[in-house]
Amino acid sequence: MQATPPSATASLPRRVVVREMGLRDGLQSVATIVPTAAKIEWIRDAYAAGEREIEVGSFVPPRLLPQLADTAEVLAFAQTLPGLRATVLVPNLKGAQRALEARAEMMLVPLSASHAHSLANLRKTPDQVLAEIARMRAERDASGARTQIEVGLSTAFGCTIQGAVDPAEVVRLVQAVLDIGVDAVSLADTVGYADPAMVSRLFEQVLKVAGERLVAAHFHDTRGLGLANVYAALQLGIARFDACSAGIGGCPHAPGASGNVATEDLVYMLHSMGIATGLDFDRLLALRAKIVHWLAGEPTHGTIWKAGLPRTMKAMEAAHA
Ligand SMILES: [Zn+2]
Repeated sequence: MQATPPSATASLPRRVVVREMGLRDGLQSVATIVPTAAKIEWIRDAYAAGEREIEVGSFVPPRLLPQLADTAEVLAFAQTLPGLRATVLVPNLKGAQRALEARAEMMLVPLSASHAHSLANLRKTPDQVLAEIARMRAERDASGARTQIEVGLSTAFGCTIQGAVDPAEVVRLVQAVLDIGVDAVSLADTVGYADPAMVSRLFEQVLKVAGERLVAAHFHDTRGLGLANVYAALQLGIARFDACSAGIGGCPHAPGASGNVATEDLVYMLHSMGIATGLDFDRLLALRAKIVHWLAGEPTHGTIWKAGLPRTMKAMEAAHA
């Protein structure tokens, strides 16, 4: 007698956190500088739409990323909204010190699994970045701040400079940062090379060493597989996904590059599958329209805004509201 195969949807999370990356991952790769007042309006609207985790910027030298020069001010506003977990990206110890001074709730530290990407991006090898992360942890502990440290393993599925990235190297780096004592890790498909089978294999391997400390997945939709990759990670119980409103982002030097999966598209898929996000779809679409206006002339991405919700879902959404 054959055993009943397990249902593909049986293990899906009932609730998912969508972490907004547009203000950091999105804005860092477009030329337009969005005024601080508009960023504050963006955060206010996102919060009103139900977003409770937003990456508000990056503590990098303003000459490198003038788009994010106002991160301290934007973070200070975000910290006034009750229950909002505002996070910042920090590339090095100096950035970490600024995040600690600002009492950020969480700092996201990128660690490239690709040796070549690490050198190009931070001018450090992955092992030199590990040493820096150990110094950040020590600094955090000494400061008495409650700031959590999440390490985002970038280029975990491949790299435009190096090509293939060995999954064993990803697992080694995850183990190393957990040994350093960071609070959480996430896996990022920085350049959009992942497919759902790669996602299943790598997340399975990393879950074996990280367990519940593997907290999020970060997929770029560069080649149209962003949501398929989300589904693969959902099946393994991952319940936090990075996304960019209007799918903004990409790289001015890489034609066709795009940002994270679009927040609105991700929320549509999750709600259609009966997975709760706490987010108001109409408010997200209204925010999308504002962002498109603020970034006039810059490429935006996403699909659901063109056709709108299916009739079958409109009634469901209204019932949830
Ligand atoms: Zn990214």
